[in-house]
Amino acid sequence: MDIRIAGVVPESIVDGEGIRYAIFMQGCLRNCEGCQNPATHPLDGGKIVDTAELINAVKRNPLLSGITLTGGEPLLQIPAAIELARATKNLGLNVWCYTGYKFEEIPSDAQELLKYVDVLVDGEFILALRDLELDFRGSSNQRIIDLNKLRNQNE
Ligand code: SF4
Repeated sequence: MDIRIAGVVPESIVDGEGIRYAIFMQGCLRNCEGCQNPATHPLDGGKIVDTAELINAVKRNPLLSGITLTGGEPLLQIPAAIELARATKNLGLNVWCYTGYKFEEIPSDAQELLKYVDVLVDGEFILALRDLELDFRGSSNQRIIDLNKLRNQNE
């Protein structure tokens, strides 16, 4: 399946726990003031690659804990995000996903994606709340949500 990406970081230690294959998905409409990745905003920017190519790269690296879907806004390309997340889970690895949506406001068509996500980092970047001390996020409004824990609680 085609996916439009700005790029990847094959071994990231700043986009979630462990060593992660971080996929910077292209396209974001939010324009948060102070965004660190403005080059990821244009919907027609970046490059188109095949999700299979990305999964193969993940398979080849035994050091990885999982993948991180980031951007840009991963929820603008839900089918490709689902494909990547599902394949990663099938490899026994975990999935982190960043989104500018608040968890409570995630659109219904993204619920299928959340089934394959272990950790969601939610919310827009807010420059006034920027905190360099925070792990894995830029501003203090953003939350690191353990979706497995949430699912267990709901059960
Ligand atoms: S949601 Fe993320 S990528 Fe989009 S503008 Fe905000 S900080 Fe940048």
